[in-house]
Amino acid sequence: MEAERVREGLEAERRRARERVAALEREFAGLAEAASAAGTDDEHDPEGATLAFERQHTAALLAAAREQVAAVDAALRRLAAGRYGVCDRCGRPIGADRLAARPAAPTCIRCAGSRR
Ligand SMILES: [Zn+2]
Repeated sequence: MEAERVREGLEAERRRARERVAALEREFAGLAEAASAAGTDDEHDPEGATLAFERQHTAALLAAAREQVAAVDAALRRLAAGRYGVCDRCGRPIGADRLAARPAAPTCIRCAGSRR
């Protein structure tokens, strides 16, 4: 495995994820402003309900983006420790296909599938 190439890929992914977090934080702040400008958090008000829905939606996207940053950070730590590409749960190699699709994946596809 070419660690250098993997590291560059992960760092690019972390940059993208951080940009997504920053963009979503701006969007979320804008929605909060819009809600207070409209002077309503009332969910029975149609506009208030739309704003509340958009804020929930944006908050969920923001949480997912932050998780992605954390996942990529963890993958970079595993790479530095020489454990990249090894499943966190069962210790077997994570398939190359899976790593190509999800470079920050911490577990092999079997463990990911059996997670409850
Ligand atoms: Zn596994």
